Amino acid sequence: MKLDLNDIRGRFPILERTVGDKPLVYLDNTATSQTPREVVEAVVNMYEHYKANVHRGVHTVSQEATDMQEHTRRRVRDYINASSVEEVIFTRGTTEAINLVASSFGDRFRDGDEIILTVMEHHANIVPWQLLQRHKDIKLRVVDINERGELDLEQYKSLFNERTVLATFTHVSNVLGTVNPVKEMIRIAHEHGVTALVDGAQASPHLPIDVRDLDCDFYVFSSHKMYGPTGVGVLYGKKELLESMPPYQGGGEMIKHVSFNGTTFADLPFKFEAGTPDFVDIAAFAKALDFIEEVGLDNIREHEEELLRYTTEKIAEIPGVKIYGTAPHKSAVLSFNVGDAHNYDVGFLLDKLGVAVRTGHHCAQPLMERLGVPGTVRASFAVYNTKEEADIFISSLKRIIPMVL
Ligand code: PLP
Repeated sequence: MKLDLNDIRGRFPILERTVGDKPLVYLDNTATSQTPREVVEAVVNMYEHYKANVHRGVHTVSQEATDMQEHTRRRVRDYINASSVEEVIFTRGTTEAINLVASSFGDRFRDGDEIILTVMEHHANIVPWQLLQRHKDIKLRVVDINERGELDLEQYKSLFNERTVLATFTHVSNVLGTVNPVKEMIRIAHEHGVTALVDGAQASPHLPIDVRDLDCDFYVFSSHKMYGPTGVGVLYGKKELLESMPPYQGGGEMIKHVSFNGTTFADLPFKFEAGTPDFVDIAAFAKALDFIEEVGLDNIREHEEELLRYTTEKIAEIPGVKIYGTAPHKSAVLSFNVGDAHNYDVGFLLDKLGVAVRTGHHCAQPLMERLGVPGTVRASFAVYNTKEEADIFISSLKRIIPMVL
């Protein structure tokens, strides 16, 4: 299907704005994607008509707000093909979801246990495990990459031993764009009786997610990278696993009964949702999922891959440009440097021409160290980006290169 890009772009008000006197070319979608009008309107609608605390009141507005939040939970369940809504926990984002697992599932780890992760992880999937190391003598075993930016699967297999308690890896690298063979990696983890957590922050906006087909134990992602509102994330966990885990935070909504002699906890999913959730944004997140399904993930992926292919070819021809991440199976992320120019200078000058790209270490400093660079410039695509925008980016880059070298 050919996308109606005019219609799609028309639904994203921010794409009409300028930066200085230049039209905005937004290529920082990996950090956060833009939000269509219907999602913004859903947020406004919640504030204007449905703002009452959820799961608390018998009154009509509270019940309506609760219904809207729980509607999104059912939408997420269907979107990722979870078995039940009890397996869908709302968090503030991917980061909080991983911290929840580290704190709650990590409670059972013992001194000497080992966690396998990869050199391409975002800090959100490194630091929570390091925080555990303050209390427990846990070892982190790190899977390396090859020169194309693909994981070394042989090394991955070799890292399992009887002390391995968790394998955790990103589905898609936020720097290299590599799509990892997570189904296979989960299968290998399970062969060793090891639990597997997938960081889906960069996969969920681009790839279909089927947690039952993947057979992952945990899968985490953020709404704001999926055309949705900020402040909402999802932790998917297998029910029996979540049931066996202690609460992460204590407070309202996650209890059955509280007394000073002891407290009993609510059933799933509420056991892990202490306090007032961001029910306004959770409710609006359903509209973002509607948007993705209306446009179609296959169409989104095809369009983004075409932009990636086109831009990569053009950028690779420019003398001095080095691209990081050349795996054949790649998502719409293009990381590069220009000679020994500082990534910040490139990003700064591109911004003067209206082109928004990311610069720096992309919250993946161990990967930068592995690549031997302090940072990269990163362009990343979403469904609303056009070939014309890719051309503006490419010509702007050519224009600024003599200024940075
Ligand atoms: N994991 C990956 C692979 C990411 O790219 C990001 C954000 O860029 C995160 C985790 C953290 O997501 P959030 O900041 O929404 O919690």
